[in-house]
Amino acid sequence: MRLSRYFLPILRETPKEAEIVSHRLMLRAGLIRQEAAGIYVWLPLGNRVLQKVAQIVREEMDRAGAIEVLMPTLQLADLWRESGRYEAYGPEMLRIKDRHERELLYGPTNEEMITEIFRASVKSYRDLPKNLYHIQWKFRDEQRPRFGVMRGREFLMKDAYSFDIDEAAARISYNKMFVAYLRIFARMGLTAIPMRAETGPIGGDLSHEFIVLAETGESGVYCHADVLDLPIPSASIDYDGDLSEVIRDWTSLYAATEDVHDAARFERETPPEKRIHTRGIEVGQVFYFGEKYSRPMQALITGPDGVERPFHGGSYGVGVSRLVAALIEAHHDENGIMWPRSVAPFEVGLANLKVGDEATDAACTEIYAALEEAGVEVLYDDTDERPGAKFAKLDLIGLPFQIIVGPKGLAEGTVEIKTRAGGKREAVSVAAAIARFTDV
Ligand code: ATP
Ligand code: MG
Repeated sequence: MRLSRYFLPILRETPKEAEIVSHRLMLRAGLIRQEAAGIYVWLPLGNRVLQKVAQIVREEMDRAGAIEVLMPTLQLADLWRESGRYEAYGPEMLRIKDRHERELLYGPTNEEMITEIFRASVKSYRDLPKNLYHIQWKFRDEQRPRFGVMRGREFLMKDAYSFDIDEAAARISYNKMFVAYLRIFARMGLTAIPMRAETGPIGGDLSHEFIVLAETGESGVYCHADVLDLPIPSASIDYDGDLSEVIRDWTSLYAATEDVHDAARFERETPPEKRIHTRGIEVGQVFYFGEKYSRPMQALITGPDGVERPFHGGSYGVGVSRLVAALIEAHHDENGIMWPRSVAPFEVGLANLKVGDEATDAACTEIYAALEEAGVEVLYDDTDERPGAKFAKLDLIGLPFQIIVGPKGLAEGTVEIKTRAGGKREAVSVAAAIARFTDV
């Protein structure tokens, strides 16, 4: 992509309304723009990151055996009356009427709808287990939308729903999601710790929140320091095998949100030098809730004994749009964002320091064409801004690598490769710069 043809509305000033670094950087780097309180436009650069985050979530859900669907954002109020949650949900739910005076709502979550879809077609234990998910916008009329997309009103969520014949089977489904979540966040370059958590309006009795430690987080958390160093299951993990050992490793060290924190137990189980008490960002949550929806909504399954019973369910959310902010909280310095490669909007920023200079233009064009040809995502700054502004912009938007091309270097036969995180710089030939990114 040539920057001269792109749409990248960078802000010069630091926006005053932004209280935390990720919000400031998302506005300044032209990733998002606020349209109303808690409602944002995803500008091109931000949208690229959002899509990459969603794609990692998708790949790991698929690997764990979940199946993607796409449910609508609007739902019928009557469906929520079946579970009793239409009244219970309160003012966070955006209620709408259509021209026929039918009551609708903009979905804050999808347990009722997925239960209705499931009960319409699945009747036998032979069709279980199943796990259906979608990646779709949600609306919650939060009392205090703040910190940009960290706590928005409209936000992108991945929500998955599991269906099983009994509690034992449902716990196996829960464990698969638990492992998938460990992989999802690790692939993005985030350390997210599963912590015992309260179940809230989703209901149920078993739940973990996945928390990224950060001073700017909204949840108070307590954990054992060693939980930060536990190994992440590999891509080849057998989801049909026994996952209980992985779950045991990840749940035997103390880790809890303040809502369920047990101070006496924390002190008993964690030596003083290993005690962490800090804040964190909830990037995902998994719930087992049993028959909470299937019983009132009469979603029945015939078991091997021929008897009908409500299925045992769980739901599993990931805050896809919140993750973009969490990633910046975890990966930035005083000059801007430092995207991990797996979610970077482009892998390479190519800076032409003297547009109009024949040799510089030729070298840039050669590098740009070679990288594009090899499928490397490159943002080519071919504008006539001065070098200082180009450097600042590339640092701000945080692409993992920069290739800096100017007449001085070229006179000595070199261009510069800068690694954004750590700031390492190397002078190499044009051919070597190309090879660095295209050799597999
Ligand atoms: P919170 O406690 O932060 O309000 P929640 O527990 O109500 O979140 P869940 O129902 O567990 O949220 O939703 C699944 C995921 O969706 C959360 O783990 C979080 O990452 C994300 N999420 C929830 N509310 C918001 C929001 N207002 N803005 C952005 N992401 C959100
Ligand atoms: Mg939650």
